[in-house]
Amino acid sequence: MLTRTLFFLLALFAAFTSATAAPVKPFVFQNQTIKAGSKLSVLLPVTDGKDSTVIPVSVFHGTKKGPVLGIIAGVHGYEYPPIIAAQQFAQTLDPTQLSGTVILVHLANVPAFLGRRLRVNPQDEKNLNRVFPGKADGTITERIAWTLGNDIMARCNYVLDVHAGEANDDLRPYAGYYNYFDTPALSEQGRQMAVALGFPYVIQFGNEPTLTGQPATYCSREAVKRGIPAADIECGRFGMAEAENVALIKQALHNLLVHLHIAEGTPSTNQPYLIKQRTSIESEHTGFFYPQVKAGEFIARGRKLGYITDLFGNPVGDVVSPVKGVVLYMSSTPPISKGQELFSVGHVE
Ligand SMILES: [Zn+2]
Repeated sequence: MLTRTLFFLLALFAAFTSATAAPVKPFVFQNQTIKAGSKLSVLLPVTDGKDSTVIPVSVFHGTKKGPVLGIIAGVHGYEYPPIIAAQQFAQTLDPTQLSGTVILVHLANVPAFLGRRLRVNPQDEKNLNRVFPGKADGTITERIAWTLGNDIMARCNYVLDVHAGEANDDLRPYAGYYNYFDTPALSEQGRQMAVALGFPYVIQFGNEPTLTGQPATYCSREAVKRGIPAADIECGRFGMAEAENVALIKQALHNLLVHLHIAEGTPSTNQPYLIKQRTSIESEHTGFFYPQVKAGEFIARGRKLGYITDLFGNPVGDVVSPVKGVVLYMSSTPPISKGQELFSVGHVE
């Protein structure tokens, strides 16, 4: 009896090892073949006949089986910590140590980066993070979105989009994901990705019955629309490439690879605070804004957050918080126009 059990266990072990030791097939990307344990860097061309650009992409194909993760940086070209972190992360990523594949978009919006432009691509003045799914025959930004969706996301099992605060934005680092009630499994996978990244706050975007009938609009929501679990990072402020925030993003990328079992390591034991609702506070005046709080501060309902003066410096109004919460990000530099967003406050109970 003992011999028979032993034989059975040995046979099981042999079957298991032969299954896991099966060679990993090459990954074909843009008609190029990437062998297991190697990487490929390519510039994806995008043109609308008038304007043109490239998207720098590196593909790391592991030696063991696993999922395909897409990491997208530089959708906004003035958000440097994600772009620098992606670049440094790519230098350290060893495909021979990976189980699965990482498709890393180093910089989605090269014209905005080189043109030092906030939010938009100077070629067509469009915000890449407002035009998804894009158009195959649209303007250059719409075609960048289309390329990201069809040439990158369509190849992925998971997608991460990385952002930061731009030149006027003070920001408290956080992760986020889309929560729609009719796709609970997809939302839950997004939540687990966002938690695993390791940031102290996780924001639920969406939080409504369904995404059906709405355009994707946003980069990571394009992935969700395609049924691909996705998460976001916001880390960095004032358009600065601060080493501390670059390091936080690199750690988050590593944490996500461990969470998805693409890389080995110790999973993050992060227990973030979940923010289910945010309030946006817009300016009622045009002129100069003098803030009296910083990103990350906890504020009570009715708290004075700052004041606005006219162009002569005469006070024209206070900015008061209608809710209790934490300042996730805020416009911290003097110029402000009526209707522009001053604060995003995450509700805390
Ligand atoms: Zn952004």
